[in-house]
Amino acid sequence: MIYYITPTYPRPEQIPELTRLGHTLMHVPRIHWIIADDQSLCSTNVLNLLRRTGLPFTHISSPKPYVYKGTNFPRGVSNRRAALVWLRENVREGVMYFGDDDNTVDLQLFDEIRRTKKVSMFPVGLIGDYGISAPIIKDGKVVAFFDSWPGSRTFPVDMAGFAVNIEFLTPTATMPYSAGHEEDKFLMSLGIKLDDIEPLADNCSKVLVWHTKTVKFKKPNLKIDIERISKLPK
Ligand code: UDP
Ligand code: MN
Repeated sequence: MIYYITPTYPRPEQIPELTRLGHTLMHVPRIHWIIADDQSLCSTNVLNLLRRTGLPFTHISSPKPYVYKGTNFPRGVSNRRAALVWLRENVREGVMYFGDDDNTVDLQLFDEIRRTKKVSMFPVGLIGDYGISAPIIKDGKVVAFFDSWPGSRTFPVDMAGFAVNIEFLTPTATMPYSAGHEEDKFLMSLGIKLDDIEPLADNCSKVLVWHTKTVKFKKPNLKIDIERISKLPK
């Protein structure tokens, strides 16, 4: 079973993003979708969408701490943490993966991550100045990382670039509120070494997931719209 953890928050793009992702997940066997709202209540719109997919799901909510405002705050952390707690309390085996609501995933990724014994890694497209973030492989082992922002990280990888076998979700496993270091600190909290990492996607030579971003929708100017409508010929 793959546990696909998606943090999400309300904005005009939320339902379109989740519709697209949900329609990808509907092609995947043995998948359980954990949708984690960053609000104090689970959104009814999101719940209706989840029900319509017919997928097994868990819908939880965990509001982000009010201190995190502005642009450079740890995004989707309280909700991912809540998903981790739910997994630890309810699931003994399977593979977990952090899949944001706006990413684009090739169906082959699911066949790949299902094989994760401990921690697997693979490239993510459309990241930073290099356009990609990927482990570098030598003799079938991860020896370094190609990422335009090393940021003094031990594991400079994107959130979408790794999967973890739930057996290795230790009691100390958590994600700190540390903007830019969420992935690294989560992987460090698992106590893994470079040698433990299983490279997937043909020795990390293929991109099977992209960090796509949607242009933010501008609020329409309703006054102008109404004027235009009133000018339509009768
Ligand atoms: N997110 C969230 N709360 C927020 C901002 C983002 O739960 O206040 C979620 C968002 O829905 C996405 C993930 O966290 O699944 C990453 O956020 P975003 O895509 O905005 O960040 P980026 O990919 O640009 O780093
Ligand atoms: Mn994103």
